[in-house]
Amino acid sequence: MAPQELLKTKFGYDSFRPGQQTVIDDILAHKNVLTIMPTGGGKSLCYQIPALLMNGLTLVVSPLIALMKDQVDALNENGIPATFVNSSLTFDEIGDRFDRARNGDVKLLYVSPERLDSGAFSQLAALPIDLVAVDEAHCISQWGHDFRPSYLALAQRLNQLPTKPTIVALTATATPRVADDIKERLGIHEEVNTGFQRDNLAFKVIKDQNSDQYLLDYLKLNEGQSGIVYASTRKEVERLTKLFHKHQFSVTMYHGGLSREERRKNQDDFLYDRAFVMVATNAFGMGIDKSNVRFVIHDSVPGSLEAYYQEAGRAGRDGLPSEAILLYKIGDVQTQHFFIEQSDRDEASKQREYKKLQVMSQYANTEQCLQQFILNYFGEDGPKCGRCSNCLDTRESQDVTVDTQKVLSCVYRMHERFGKNLVAQVLAGSQGQKIKNFHFDDLSTYGIMKGQSQKKIVELIDYLTAAGYLITDGGQFPILKVAPLGVAVLQGTQQVFRKSAIQATKSLPVND
Ligand code: ADP
Repeated sequence: MAPQELLKTKFGYDSFRPGQQTVIDDILAHKNVLTIMPTGGGKSLCYQIPALLMNGLTLVVSPLIALMKDQVDALNENGIPATFVNSSLTFDEIGDRFDRARNGDVKLLYVSPERLDSGAFSQLAALPIDLVAVDEAHCISQWGHDFRPSYLALAQRLNQLPTKPTIVALTATATPRVADDIKERLGIHEEVNTGFQRDNLAFKVIKDQNSDQYLLDYLKLNEGQSGIVYASTRKEVERLTKLFHKHQFSVTMYHGGLSREERRKNQDDFLYDRAFVMVATNAFGMGIDKSNVRFVIHDSVPGSLEAYYQEAGRAGRDGLPSEAILLYKIGDVQTQHFFIEQSDRDEASKQREYKKLQVMSQYANTEQCLQQFILNYFGEDGPKCGRCSNCLDTRESQDVTVDTQKVLSCVYRMHERFGKNLVAQVLAGSQGQKIKNFHFDDLSTYGIMKGQSQKKIVELIDYLTAAGYLITDGGQFPILKVAPLGVAVLQGTQQVFRKSAIQATKSLPVND
């Protein structure tokens, strides 16, 4: 049977989505292929259809143990023989499932990556595996946002499979660097990348507002719509859930501290629209296929743009207009810095995390189209979306060239060795001890922005960094340097424009 026919008879769809046919053709031609498609793009079909057309078994490696049963049940309902093996099963059950896989009674076998790295490997190696699908393949790269050591061992193990299966790796988030890493580690030469653009998502960044207030107003305005609110800690999830309950919103919550049953129940309440809003930590959502999520709001800044895009991308899987909103508070970034600093990662890994966090602050501070900013980060170009908060921002742009020149020359005079807070202090003419110790009060730029608050100057520096006039080294206390674009401003060949400050909006009382 041809792939197209299977699509219709087994899955009930008339046509392939972009990229699916190419991936399937590559697999059937025994070419290893990396598949990059946005969330909801239809990655699963890319290996499920070949699985039905190949003689042997398809091994699906997925870190989402909790979802394996659901995925397998869904396949079985479509009449596709599939099963899974994980630690929730007894020894006998596992043995029985391996037997069925060996005898060709199932076409797809789902396993966690750990399973390949244990004594169980010899059992797997004895199976007639023709195809291996590596789901969430970005987990293999240390440059990805969710690196898992078990994925590294996986790459070696796959090479040792005697049947030399074809490999398809799938992910929704991979920068060019991560994509290269995946391909190198898994011996892949082909890549099908349908792009990251999501035409129905409107990105928004809301800065410097009371976020409880914002959330209450938003939920009121969007009552009856399904959405996710991500908070950074379990405590915050509990607090927000309580606050929303108090205001009679239909909410439920999810975090790692809840019992298995509670998580299951709350997740189902959300999936089946018994509760409209899910308040959760980032433990919630991977693999969740709820199509009518109209908004995803982040109450605090995630650690990387990849993580943000993946979480935000859970909105609008049905293709209808949806919003992805980031409530940005500078303090959150500092807290994240602190967490990284306190973690027991090695220095190189800390530097990588700082860099990723820095991209998040650039995202929050840029005046570029937000969709475009994200696409650029993932190595793509695209037009302005016309929907994001920056595209819709009609405030007048002001010429801030002179202030920019002041900031940049101050950074120069301080020999590009300090961070934004000290630079702002020097520009504002602060009397601090550090200023005296370093004799910054002797600099010609000392106090040249005296009329402005340090906070305002720091905001300008953030803006200039986001807009590419300044660069930072991304470290724990990022050091400012003048970027090539900034040099042009100092030479007078480049002007700088910035939109004026945000107007406050009217809102409901928080009343908690
Ligand atoms: P991903 O893993 O890329 O996030 P899924 O594989 O879960 O996405 O697919 C998302 C949804 O799209 C699923 O409900 C799936 O059945 C549906 N889907 C996949 N391919 C097609 C297609 N060719 N036509 C219509 N719907 C499709």
